[in-house]
Amino acid sequence: MIINIFSKYFNKILNFVYPKFCKSCDVLLDNNFVFCHNCWDSIKPIASLDINISLSKKITVYAASSYSDPLKKLMFEKFYSKNVVFCKNLAFVMYKKTIIKDLQLDYLVPIPLHWSRYAKRGYNQSEVIAKELSKLLNIPVLDILKRNKKTYYQSTLSVKDKYLNLKNAFDIKDKYKNKYLLKDKKILIIDDLFTTGATASNAATVLFKEFPESVDLVVACRIV
Ligand SMILES: [Zn+2]
Repeated sequence: MIINIFSKYFNKILNFVYPKFCKSCDVLLDNNFVFCHNCWDSIKPIASLDINISLSKKITVYAASSYSDPLKKLMFEKFYSKNVVFCKNLAFVMYKKTIIKDLQLDYLVPIPLHWSRYAKRGYNQSEVIAKELSKLLNIPVLDILKRNKKTYYQSTLSVKDKYLNLKNAFDIKDKYKNKYLLKDKKILIIDDLFTTGATASNAATVLFKEFPESVDLVVACRIV
């Protein structure tokens, strides 16, 4: 209680010295997050979407929002900044606005980044989001996927080319091969943005070969 009062008092002082503004509408913030209460309330999770991976396998896609403001603004900040705090903010929104906390998961699996892009940026955004979600959900991250080849930037390609570009793009990391760690487990793939589903489908196809009970996906934004 005392700590709580103290931290509120401390935040007020911090805000006085370094005023913080809502990332979406620019009003002065009276909370410790990146959005004001109005903008926070305007983030509406969209209906989950099922994608068939094979005749008997499907994944469900959970999204905190469509690709629209205010979350779109945070996605932009994340993309252009090297500051991991925006990934952590997105993780918090995904945790609060979707039903992933009710899924009784075994592992969170981030979408891997090719090493050359990792070197350029310094970190993998999906991995940072996964680690933050891991703390919030108390579920371990299993960084089991690797990228086989340097895929082109997806945004520059047509829908058909996106699927071809990502075919065989992922594999199980060598150190996890033949260990069947995912057998009968409930897996949640973590990514920031869902566009055509090509990335998720290809990652899920690889994961299903490990005989999990289920594979699903959570993203911050899904383009609808
Ligand atoms: Zn606002």
